[in-house]
Amino acid sequence: MTLIPEHRIIISPINELEADLLRGIGDEVQRVFGFAVEIEPLLDNVDFAYNADRAQYHTTPILDRLADLAPPHALRVAAVARVDLFIPILTHVYGEAQLGGRACIVSTYRLDENLSPAADSHILFQRVIKEAVHELGHTFDLRHCRDPQCIMHYCRAIEDVDRKSNDLCRYCGVMLQDQLAKL
Ligand SMILES: [Zn+2]
Ligand SMILES: [Zn+2]
Repeated sequence: MTLIPEHRIIISPINELEADLLRGIGDEVQRVFGFAVEIEPLLDNVDFAYNADRAQYHTTPILDRLADLAPPHALRVAAVARVDLFIPILTHVYGEAQLGGRACIVSTYRLDENLSPAADSHILFQRVIKEAVHELGHTFDLRHCRDPQCIMHYCRAIEDVDRKSNDLCRYCGVMLQDQLAKL
């Protein structure tokens, strides 16, 4: 895939995150979407999105804020957090995106399930990378895919995340190319 120099995807860490994880997300995002990637923090914290009743963070105001803060050359912003995220209709989410919009977010918080602290961080990183690519896919208007191997497959449980591949299925790949051709 050819790189379009004027367009970049910004990977934006919100909390303190491992450099290896951010680099891993950046590499996969560049491979799948074909844009150069920059790592740039845009938000110091997401306290404004904290819901005290649920002790969780509401993704919608975070995405709105990120879309506002994104610099002009940022085609998309993918934030990475460590906090527990929710949308009102669900108990929690691994991540969330503005469908066909500019911003998405993913969190490590629920993705370390079934991993011991001593477990290889590689597994956690793979999960976060997959969910980050998944959420970015939504910003390019991709919907959930029935193929359990496809990265756009909706994962209810952590086993589903581990089972799916790092790639779009053929159908979703064609859909992405259609969207990119419209840019
Ligand atoms: Zn999704
Ligand atoms: Zn698919």
